Amino acid sequence: MHYSAFRIFKEAMTGNRGWKPAWRDPDPKSEYDIIVVGGGGHGLSTAYYLAKEFGQTNVAVLEKGWIGSGNVGRNTTIIRSNYLLEGNQPFYELSMKMWENLEQDLNYNAMVSQRGILNLIHNDPQRDAYARRGNAMRLSGADAELLDREAVRRMCPFLDFENARFPIQGALWQPRAGTVRHDAVAWGYARGADSRGVDIIQNCEVTGFRIENGRCLGVETTRGAIRAKKVAVCVAGSSSRVMAQAGMRLPIESHVLQAFVSEGLKPIIPGVITFGAGHFYVSQSDKGGLVFGGDIDAYNTYAQRGGLPVVEDVCEGGMALMPMIGRARLLRMWGGLIDMSMDGSPFIDRTDIDGLYFNGGWCYGGFKATPASGYCYAHLVATDRPHPTAAAYRLDRFLRGAPIDEKGQGAQPNLH
Ligand SMILES: Cc1cc2nc3c(=O)[nH]c(=O)nc-3n(C[C@H](O)[C@H](O)[C@H](O)COP(=O)(O)OP(=O)(O)OC[C@H]3O[C@@H](n4cnc5c(N)ncnc54)[C@H](O)[C@@H]3O)c2cc1C
Repeated sequence: MHYSAFRIFKEAMTGNRGWKPAWRDPDPKSEYDIIVVGGGGHGLSTAYYLAKEFGQTNVAVLEKGWIGSGNVGRNTTIIRSNYLLEGNQPFYELSMKMWENLEQDLNYNAMVSQRGILNLIHNDPQRDAYARRGNAMRLSGADAELLDREAVRRMCPFLDFENARFPIQGALWQPRAGTVRHDAVAWGYARGADSRGVDIIQNCEVTGFRIENGRCLGVETTRGAIRAKKVAVCVAGSSSRVMAQAGMRLPIESHVLQAFVSEGLKPIIPGVITFGAGHFYVSQSDKGGLVFGGDIDAYNTYAQRGGLPVVEDVCEGGMALMPMIGRARLLRMWGGLIDMSMDGSPFIDRTDIDGLYFNGGWCYGGFKATPASGYCYAHLVATDRPHPTAAAYRLDRFLRGAPIDEKGQGAQPNLH
């Protein structure tokens, strides 16, 4: 079914009886060419591009819960391509360009809103670092502008510019960054993949891999064994648990990251703002809620709920940046299970087991990567060659002494 203004009009005139489910609910077949494990944003976009770009339609996405129940439906919806390092910047800029055309491509309203991101600067070394980052962005074709304090004040007069400890001196501004309605991304990709023949199978947990003579021949699931020529795992925060079933130990830790939404307020925040003196970021949803977050909870966990110390830390960051936030009432909060890699950068790679592929380690920032990750992963799985833009995301990079340490903070997930 093609969605259009004409379709809405027609359905309105005929009692809305013609709408069809956006995707089917098939039973699993006994065998597929490719199985994608995990029905999050990355799994669904991988399946979509496998079908659309590489003609692979005998594909199943196996999801243990319902699609969108993981981080793709839990994140704070920020998209941006303000990265520094060569291994990262072109990849995230590819993703940014794909976001710009995504709704037309999927024929689905994902509410892509390029309202810009401000990374605030609070001291001179930070200005130098952001100037360098902005130059790296421009060299890879992205947009970046260094703003002085008065330009930031004109955009966001409500910020605390005179804060004695963290006075605001300026910002790095990426106008093409913004927000996207996160669960619509899952639904749009699901609908697009399903319409090309991909089976999306919910309530189907992968519980093991069938591996013989160093080759992956399929998976065990709660709905029976399924054979496959290739198995592509992308389960985000469950990466280490799922890959342990194939005997692999990953350079990834799972932590919980919390998100917060206030009651609806009149439009006040023009885009996304990040506090450069702590870890706090905020935007405003189209319904008016302030959407904000901060650090991960420091301990390792597979629980999708967080603890109070981080709640306090996030609120302190908010109050230091924009004291008026203290007047807003909190409407809801939740946690998501994120896959923190040891250098803050992701993996899109083959494993040592033939026919088994891995995508994960997205840390705080995998939502913005959803289109490029799916496209590059599909390229790898279909052709057995890495896509040039994602060629650095190898599992052996620590062994080779080539980590992609974007922030230069080493193997400390809480600092990435
Ligand atoms: C609170 C929060 C805020 C965030 N904010 C941002 C942001 O603003 N911008 C940004 O770019 N990123 C953000 N992120 C990160 C981003 O959401 C993730 O990096 C990204 O969504 C991960 O990829 P995914 O969508 O495929 O993951 P998920 O949606 O988590 O998908 C993985 C799926 O695998 C399934 N699964 C797990 N185990 C199995 C199994 N054994 N068998 C079958 N299925 C299984 C899970 O149920 C899940 O649905 C945030 C994350 C959180 C938690």
